[in-house]
Amino acid sequence: MAKNVSKLNSKIWLSAPHMSGHEEKFIKEAFNTNWIAPLGPNVNGFEKDLESYLGVNAHVAALTTGTAAIHLALLLLNVTSKDEVICQTKTFAASVNPVLYLGAKPVFVDSETDTWNMCPILLEQAINDRIKKGKKPKAIIVINLYGMPHKVNEIKNISNKYNIPIVEDSAEALGSCYFNKKCGTFGKLSVLSFNGNKIITTSGGGALVSNSTETKAKTIFLATQAKEPGIEYSHKVIGYNYRMSNILAGIGRGQMEVLDNYVALRRKNYSYYLNELESIKDINFLIEPEGFFSNRWLTCIKLSTKQMREDLIKLLQEHNIEARPSWKPMHLQPVFKEYPSYLNGVSEDIYNKTMCLPSGSNLSKNELNRIVKVIKAYFE
Ligand SMILES: *Cc1c(COP(=O)(O)O)cnc(C)c1O
Repeated sequence: MAKNVSKLNSKIWLSAPHMSGHEEKFIKEAFNTNWIAPLGPNVNGFEKDLESYLGVNAHVAALTTGTAAIHLALLLLNVTSKDEVICQTKTFAASVNPVLYLGAKPVFVDSETDTWNMCPILLEQAINDRIKKGKKPKAIIVINLYGMPHKVNEIKNISNKYNIPIVEDSAEALGSCYFNKKCGTFGKLSVLSFNGNKIITTSGGGALVSNSTETKAKTIFLATQAKEPGIEYSHKVIGYNYRMSNILAGIGRGQMEVLDNYVALRRKNYSYYLNELESIKDINFLIEPEGFFSNRWLTCIKLSTKQMREDLIKLLQEHNIEARPSWKPMHLQPVFKEYPSYLNGVSEDIYNKTMCLPSGSNLSKNELNRIVKVIKAYFE
């Protein structure tokens, strides 16, 4: 009996890893063939899987983390300590930390309300103001927050108009599409993450996506200590040790077999929450604009007040259910507060009133029901 009770109240996580059962086959292969290194058949195979998933022009380099991929993306765009880089303020700190690794200066831009991603109008204002102040930004880091694609065409038009390349941080959006084209292909360079909490995971991992074999080769060169060809240990530039392990890539190959199924399951979670909760007038959902397809990595709800958001997270916690506020905007972070930002209040409003609900592809019907019950009880 006591056992049953503890099971009934077992912890529900925000976004737990979900193994398909196919991963160990690839890991075993790595052991059997002794490819225990940051190179090998699984790394090549995982890259090939991602390339065929993303589409024709995608060239993928598998790396240790998504953060490493952003770091290399900025290096490939020649960002130096003299440069400014525009970054969406509504994101996780990993999107912008690499700007600081390079000693460059981040400039933050607020969101629009349709997708919660970078506001195109504010982006153009920011660019013009930075140019007026003496410096054209070197790159634009745009996010697909919680799996929702950014306004690709609008942002791309501005990028083209001012000739500033886009780094698309698609860490949360593998499997999402914008008018049938996959997220992770919209930047001059795009970034994926396979961290433990993402839609598919290699426990830790990332990838840099470009549109040429040359850029892929250059990424791999930088990620393997920038060692010149040949047996001499010869180096002409500074390198990094960012290549993905062949063991972890084996997990990735197993995960790629079920990615589309996981997208469907996360979208099903969203639909369940929507059906159960949309009649509560204090709860709002982020609807997909036409042509936008979100992997619904995390389902977020926007409450009418900050108090409700705080109460609900606490209440869920008391029921052993993990829920979180949405990412705290970068311009509100103590570590970034000295940098320029172009604001309209949208990201702060979302941050104050929004929470992320458990969204894993391995949530059971019972668990979803438990979550919804707690939320409904609060509003009764
Ligand atoms: C997870 C995440 C990253 C970082 O990826 P890691 O693989 O954990 O380094 C970057 N940006 C966003 C928006 C993320 O959610």
